[in-house]
Amino acid sequence: MDIIHLLPDSVANQIAAGEVIQRPASCLKELVENSLDAGATRISVIVRDAGRTLLQVIDDGTGMSETDARMAFERHATSKIREAQDLFSLRTMGFRGEALASICAVAQVEVQTRREEDEMGTLLEIHGSDVVRQEPCQCPKGTNFRVKNLFYNVPARRKFLKTDQTELRNLLTEFYHIVLVYPKVQFTFVSNDEILMELPAGTEKQRIEQVFGKGNKQFTGGLVDVKTDTDLVSIRGFVGKPETSGKNAQQYFFVNGRYMRHPYFHKAIMTAYAGMLPGDYNPSYFIYFDIDPQTIDVNIHPTKTEIKFADEQAVFQILMAAVRESIGKFNVMAPIDFDRSGEIEMPVVSSTIKTNGPQVVFDPTYNPFKKQPSYGGGSGYGGVSGGGQSASYASRTAPRNWQQLYAQPEEPVVQTKTDILDDMSLLEGAEPYQYAGKYILQPSRMGLMFINQHRAHVCVQYYTILEQIRDRKGVRQQLLFPEVLDLNAADMTLMSSIVEDLQAIGFDIEQFGKNSYSIHAVPALLGQQNVLVVLQNILHALRETGASARETYEHTIALSLAKDTAIAYGKSLTREEQCDLVKRLLSLPVYRQTPDGKTVISMLSDDEISKRF
Ligand code: ADP
Ligand code: MG
Repeated sequence: MDIIHLLPDSVANQIAAGEVIQRPASCLKELVENSLDAGATRISVIVRDAGRTLLQVIDDGTGMSETDARMAFERHATSKIREAQDLFSLRTMGFRGEALASICAVAQVEVQTRREEDEMGTLLEIHGSDVVRQEPCQCPKGTNFRVKNLFYNVPARRKFLKTDQTELRNLLTEFYHIVLVYPKVQFTFVSNDEILMELPAGTEKQRIEQVFGKGNKQFTGGLVDVKTDTDLVSIRGFVGKPETSGKNAQQYFFVNGRYMRHPYFHKAIMTAYAGMLPGDYNPSYFIYFDIDPQTIDVNIHPTKTEIKFADEQAVFQILMAAVRESIGKFNVMAPIDFDRSGEIEMPVVSSTIKTNGPQVVFDPTYNPFKKQPSYGGGSGYGGVSGGGQSASYASRTAPRNWQQLYAQPEEPVVQTKTDILDDMSLLEGAEPYQYAGKYILQPSRMGLMFINQHRAHVCVQYYTILEQIRDRKGVRQQLLFPEVLDLNAADMTLMSSIVEDLQAIGFDIEQFGKNSYSIHAVPALLGQQNVLVVLQNILHALRETGASARETYEHTIALSLAKDTAIAYGKSLTREEQCDLVKRLLSLPVYRQTPDGKTVISMLSDDEISKRF
């Protein structure tokens, strides 16, 4: 008996849907892209239960004829290309003719559509690829798609969906990717009957402001234009001035009207900023590439956001030069005034960085041994090798290692074999010593410990905050004047899911109107830190990790807050404070590394020390 047969369309479509439609957000993307391809100037997205029960997209585009409306749901049915050649001149978002067939295979779809020239429109209802209704209807020009009960016939997919909060966030992320490239189109986003976004038509800059401007006014003010035209590519857009960089950066690339991720081009931008940003600060950028479609890989999978360029190296250079020129216009090499004292890595050039503590001058070329008076100068020291001796002595022996240690705290000088340290390991009466405003040198039974003071305190704060979240015992400090934190829709959702944790630590925070939170008290451990910045950083960290489980929320909040409140580099500590910090550090469950994996303690063993002589 022969056993091979063709799958029915409904099954084939369901399988294909598995690739194209993974969650409500992918559905949103496909529908809105179709509306744009149909030349819409106004698009509304309406969701219920984060798109689980309803995802509706209404546009005022060309609409479809009765026959086209029916055809649109067939697999490989498209009006956008006719032959393979067309693939190389694509200017539309869609072209595979797969989306609608996929969506209708895994949901209950209802569409109403009418072209300008038709008096009556068409209503079509399809459940799991089966047409259950088709009739003429009265409707405005354009198309109105209702996708109901997504994955109603694919329980495995349904289970795979995350919480409503996460799915709503995914929807908004997808929405941002689109609205940022179509500023001339008016968009609305409604979730559970509440208007989350209303974006009137405008320029690109205005659109960026509409989306990210909330609670972030200095953000859009800090964007400068990028523009360059070459035979290969046109690049325009905006990049943030270095002083507006932060952990909360927004970074977007678009090519020919399509969002893309491009780690290589990201590097081009980071290279342009080299030496201007401290530590884990990032610049914001919105870069729009316009390029001949023939020179990019057009056969892009709908769920893939990475796009190959034919000549990536050339584009890299052009992009880097353009960004460099733009930021160069703003005398950015002057000392940068950061109003926070978070973790600040060594900049490439020596420069002054203002922290909450005293002013510190970081100079990576500083060599403590060169300053030893008896070897300096040379003239008075009449050895055979003359004045040069001190320098070669300095570079041949210990100083080189000191300098290495100073310049690259990431790389431990010596990693001991044993991982067991506790305050018993401390030598009786051996006092710690603060070095370079950055390290605590602590003699121990196993050798000399180099402890990174900021990171050590991050560890201590981290465990303290975790405990406070769990036991709800944060200490409050009332604010004289309440602060207001304005947030965009995605962050409002995110915030609502962590409010309780924040209250446990000592924030008195509650929703205040539709787009903001008011803060009346802060945790005592916040000290002088700016509460708005601290909260933005927490939200940013959560967005980065895409955390959804409670434990990861707690971890992320605790870590972000710990980093913001830990003592800064450059803060001088009394002997007592140093002792206390070392003891508390060594009593933690994990202390050799910060919770995000950075080295806290580096050991120079006694053996290692004696080998040097
Ligand atoms: P693709 O976009 O790749 O062509 P789709 O399955 O997304 O494939 O859509 C199939 C076709 O249905 C499109 O080519 C287009 O002709 C038509 N269509 C879909 N959505 C709309 C819309 N909102 N307005 C007008 N036509 C549409
Ligand atoms: Mg499409």
